[in-house]
Parts: sequence; C-alpha cells; structure tokens
Amino acid sequence: MKTRNIFALAIVGILLFACQPTEQQQETTVANPQQPAITIDTTQRRPAPDFYVIAPGTERKRVWVCDDQRSDVFHVDNRCEVLLTCTGVYKNVSLQRAVEEYDRYHCETCSQEYADMFDQDKVRYDF
Ligand SMILES: [Zn+2]
Repeated sequence: MKTRNIFALAIVGILLFACQPTEQQQETTVANPQQPAITIDTTQRRPAPDFYVIAPGTERKRVWVCDDQRSDVFHVDNRCEVLLTCTGVYKNVSLQRAVEEYDRYHCETCSQEYADMFDQDKVRYDF
C-alpha cells in the first residue's frame, strides 16, 4: 500500500510541475495584440476652438464624445458612424462641457445643426 501512495504522489508532483510552463506561455501571447492600434492613429487632434457661441438654452443639451487620443468632435447621434470608430471611452456630457472641457467641434456627419457655433462671421441676434 505505502509504495503505491508514494507513486501516486510522484505522479501528482510531475503533473503540477508539467503544468507550469504552459501557464507562462499563455501570459506572453496575451501581451502583444495592442501593437496594430498605434499605426492606425494618423489623424491629429485639432487645438481647442478659438471661437464659439453656445446658444442660450442649448448649453445643457446632451451630446456624445469619444475620449481617445484623436477625437475632437462631439456627436448628437450616439449611433453616428464617426462615433462608432471610437477607440476609447464614450461619454455623454452637456454641450457646454463638450466644448469647454473636451475642446470639441461639431461632428460634420451628425451635428451640422451646431456648425454655426464656431462661425465667427455668422450674424447673431440678441436673445
Ligand atoms: Zn457624429
């Protein structure tokens, strides 16, 4: 009986030892897939808007921003095709925060209605 127990322990020991190298291999293959994303980032983020006018009543309008390294626009439509290319975190913020804190311009695809905000030559009426 005793020799059989020792033999069983030896097999368990061999199995435990044999498992370790495969765990290490798995860790090294997981570390790599990040690399291709860096080469896609070719567009540069524009500097913060020099000029903008937020029409009274629209400052609390909820818009979407993509918080990544290259996005510089806000979106009215959360299913906008430009927003869907986001590689970072989606955030739902007020129009005022999008412009003042996140330095965003209007999205040409879904937010044309806000193009006037950044047009310095646009004639404005006193509200
Ligand atoms: Zn958009």
